[in-house]
Amino acid sequence: MTKTHPEFRADIHCHSSFSDGSMHPDELVAHAKEVGLQGLSITDHDTTASYPAVFKKAEELGIEMISGVEFSTMHNKKTVHVLGYAYRIENEEIQSLCRRHVDRRKERNRKILDLLEKRGMPIHLDLEGQPKGRPHIAQSLVEAGHVATFQEAFDRWIGNGKPCYTEGTPVSTQETIQVIQNAGGVAVLAHPQQLKNKSFVLELLQLNFDGMECHYGVLGTLPEYLKIAEEKHLIITGGSDFHGSVKPKIPLGCSWTPEETFRLLRNRFLS
Ligand code: AMP
Ligand code: ZN
Ligand code: FE
Ligand code: FE
Repeated sequence: MTKTHPEFRADIHCHSSFSDGSMHPDELVAHAKEVGLQGLSITDHDTTASYPAVFKKAEELGIEMISGVEFSTMHNKKTVHVLGYAYRIENEEIQSLCRRHVDRRKERNRKILDLLEKRGMPIHLDLEGQPKGRPHIAQSLVEAGHVATFQEAFDRWIGNGKPCYTEGTPVSTQETIQVIQNAGGVAVLAHPQQLKNKSFVLELLQLNFDGMECHYGVLGTLPEYLKIAEEKHLIITGGSDFHGSVKPKIPLGCSWTPEETFRLLRNRFLS
């Protein structure tokens, strides 16, 4: 059943099967239509692989899209997720940055699998082909019977700071922002509440971020960060961080970007 929201809603943070989501990009666009969205951006981790092919399906269904991507970066030894929007997809610098992030993730995943094996928890996970994230590792640990639940995998073994977690060679937040902007895009600080540290967020905003994600997932509006973003005249975005069946409690469209901001991004993308 298709429903349409009276006001324009664009969910500009979600993941397809080209990173760690469960739906193929075409399926994701069809799902966006089904839940009544008018705008969408797929922000796969480290890859722009759903673009430009997905635009065809979006056009058929009347869903407006902008390019998107999410990078896990490092600033002062902390992991910072950076969203990139409206960049030129074919830009060589951004494609090369994607390749570096993919290599970093593969190297890190291989180290995590080694650490798990050393502790008697071998798993088989194809690290080539489609990029993998920690959620895939957690799922494999459950399937192999090494842990009882997905959450236990993080809490005991692969969460940040846990015994089988390790970083790869990180790419800096600063450089990632610069490359997104060089490709004509805007760089947005993702889900700031996850950093659990307002002063660190303020420190990050000294970098050249264009925007901050202040409507996030099932949490909806993040009032504390919305206030900061407004004061600093940042672009204020929103999105669900939908991953399909990988995170079944997070529905597509549960947070969104209002029309005016989406138009701004889309005009930039089209120009
Ligand atoms: P990766 O980008 O491969 O490091 O994986 C990051 C993803 O792992 C996040 O987007 C979460 O979905 C998941 N994750 C990280 N830490 C936790 C945690 N403590 N509990 C549950 N999920 C987590
Ligand atoms: Zn993800
Ligand atoms: Fe993220
Ligand atoms: Fe995400």
